[in-house]
Amino acid sequence: MRIDLHTHSSVSDGTEPPAEVMRRAARLGVDVVALTDHDTHAGLAEAQAAADEVGVRLVRGMEMSTTLGGRSVHLLAYGGDPTHAGWVAELDEIRASRQDRIGRMVARLQGLGAPIDVADVVAQARGDTIGRPHVADALVAAGWVANRDEAFARYLHDGGPAAVRKYETPLEVAIDLVHDAGAAAVIAHPWGRGSREVLDAETFGSLARNHGLDGLEVDHADHGPPGSGTRARLRAIARTHGLIVTGASDHHGAGKDGHEIGSELTAVGMWERLRQRCR
Ligand code: AMP
Ligand code: FE
Ligand code: FE
Ligand code: ZN
Repeated sequence: MRIDLHTHSSVSDGTEPPAEVMRRAARLGVDVVALTDHDTHAGLAEAQAAADEVGVRLVRGMEMSTTLGGRSVHLLAYGGDPTHAGWVAELDEIRASRQDRIGRMVARLQGLGAPIDVADVVAQARGDTIGRPHVADALVAAGWVANRDEAFARYLHDGGPAAVRKYETPLEVAIDLVHDAGAAAVIAHPWGRGSREVLDAETFGSLARNHGLDGLEVDHADHGPPGSGTRARLRAIARTHGLIVTGASDHHGAGKDGHEIGSELTAVGMWERLRQRCR
């Protein structure tokens, strides 16, 4: 059984509609696939219909923007009640802040000579969640950069000249909220990018003990190739604290190279443990 627990659609910053993500998963021989768009559940109904049609099992997910010690941490939430009032309110606030910062990022880019305006960015977003990848897409469409990677490398990376932070839920608050809504909480790519600075072994331990953190996404391309020291260390930490280990592609369609659906997988036994915890 092939299980991929982290993908994005055009409802956030992937490039394929939710139904196409499901069809693609089926074509690639993946049996269980989670749709985990950033800060929204809006793609799940379309995904479910397509999943039923092509015979893949959809795991209802979401990747929540959270913060710890001044860094961004991505939290995967599996299952739960997407109408839970507190959760809805928190996600609304994050998405409003995402929208709000676009004008400031565009102003900075204009100051650096880039020929784009807010409408160009809005035109790139096809769903619920707008963000830096859509700013990057507008720069590509304007011919200012060649692709998303160049846009991030030059302007939009954390701390970059055109990056503006958004509101993000404090990590501990987010884990508690996700649990209150009946979902399971798994930290996405914990040692990719900036979150590595704030997530040391002891922090995982206290999140497990004090907040019932469910798991760590260990097998992710941001952690180096399979067998890397980073993956081995994370796996050992997970074992120490009884955390579920997941693996996933973090597919974004044409928005991210080298993240094809099924390129990283979750072990069946780990999925069995996780599914017990997502109501
Ligand atoms: P945002 O959620 O608007 O802050 O944008 C962050 C998203 O941009 C991530 O979820 C990734 O999909 C994408 N991304 C691609 N390259 C980078 C990078 N170098 N730094 C941060 N985010 C990146
Ligand atoms: Fe993304
Ligand atoms: Fe992420
Ligand atoms: Zn993701």
